[in-house]
Amino acid sequence: MSRTYNFSAGPSMMPLAVLKRAQQELLDWNDGMSVMEVSHRSNAFLALIAGCEEKLRLLLHIPANYKVLFLPGGATLQFAGIPLNLLGDKKHVDYIDTGVWSQKAIGEAKHYATVNVAASAKDSNYTSVPEFEEWQLSKDAAYVHITPNETIQGVEYQGFPTGIENLVADMSSTFLSRPVDVAKFGLLYAGAQKNMGPAGIAVVIVRDDLLNKASPLTPVITNYTVQAQEHSLYNTPPTFNWYMLNLVLEWLVEQGGLVSMAAINQRKATELYNAIDGSSFYKNPVVKKYRSWMNIPFTLAQENLDSLFLTEAEKVGLMNLKGHRIVGGMRASIYNAMPEEGVRTLIAFMQDFERRHG
Ligand code: PMP
Repeated sequence: MSRTYNFSAGPSMMPLAVLKRAQQELLDWNDGMSVMEVSHRSNAFLALIAGCEEKLRLLLHIPANYKVLFLPGGATLQFAGIPLNLLGDKKHVDYIDTGVWSQKAIGEAKHYATVNVAASAKDSNYTSVPEFEEWQLSKDAAYVHITPNETIQGVEYQGFPTGIENLVADMSSTFLSRPVDVAKFGLLYAGAQKNMGPAGIAVVIVRDDLLNKASPLTPVITNYTVQAQEHSLYNTPPTFNWYMLNLVLEWLVEQGGLVSMAAINQRKATELYNAIDGSSFYKNPVVKKYRSWMNIPFTLAQENLDSLFLTEAEKVGLMNLKGHRIVGGMRASIYNAMPEEGVRTLIAFMQDFERRHG
């Protein structure tokens, strides 16, 4: 077996121990059946999902007045699900624009509500987060939506505003990378395929008082009130993905939880940023205090070396480093499952490449 280091933004690298466990259990998870062959209403599967929620609650210290939902459709379905569920009898919603994923959320919300873009990082070419004091919040917004980590631009909030009653956050590419105070939010959501498991399932954590307001037009599959009542089993859920997600949470608990993950993640990111900043060949454009711990874009001094960099990187097992076309250059996504050794191997490769071509 030869595994490579996969720097993809998502779907992304999974912990090896999780893949091995799934492999071991693939044919016989319970009673001689694969987990993907059993009913989602069987006792064995119900025990799995109860344990899954318990571990998530433990890892994030989720307060009792929040429901935890596991829903199909990725984070994108929630771009519509959020206004449909939370608008109630209000008309306005506030969004903070920090990059591509904020804009996708805004585009979808516009179908259901009047969107006020209360602040935008556009003037910085999306290399920073607008200062909280400068946000022009509406008086009567149903909620304020933020994107704590912009996966493409590599910009991450390093703290959250206080005093916003219904703060809603798309945590997709930062979820479970470090502790977060759930009580500061009305709703948190994240697709799984970065830090939690395979694509196709998303987690929504929603405060109880935000339920029971869904528009009658809300598709039942993304109606938080119904899904909370049904324990996310209104229809047949993506059972295998849920099983994998559960294994990842188990792995996270074994690693010592989110405080341990945060220390490792900060170390990985710091080492890579130091290598970039310490060279005159590589550059990261993001304002230092808003640099993402998870997605690190960087450019080479000469664009015409990009394809050689990627080819040589692949030869030594460093995969999927091509940046998003909007930003150009490279992007290293270093989620929880990327070992420190993977980041060090990348840094050594970058330094060697610079010596030879810089
Ligand atoms: N939000 C963010 C921050 C993302 O990075 C992504 C996916 N890259 C999405 C939302 C969309 O997620 P999904 O593909 O799970 O719908």
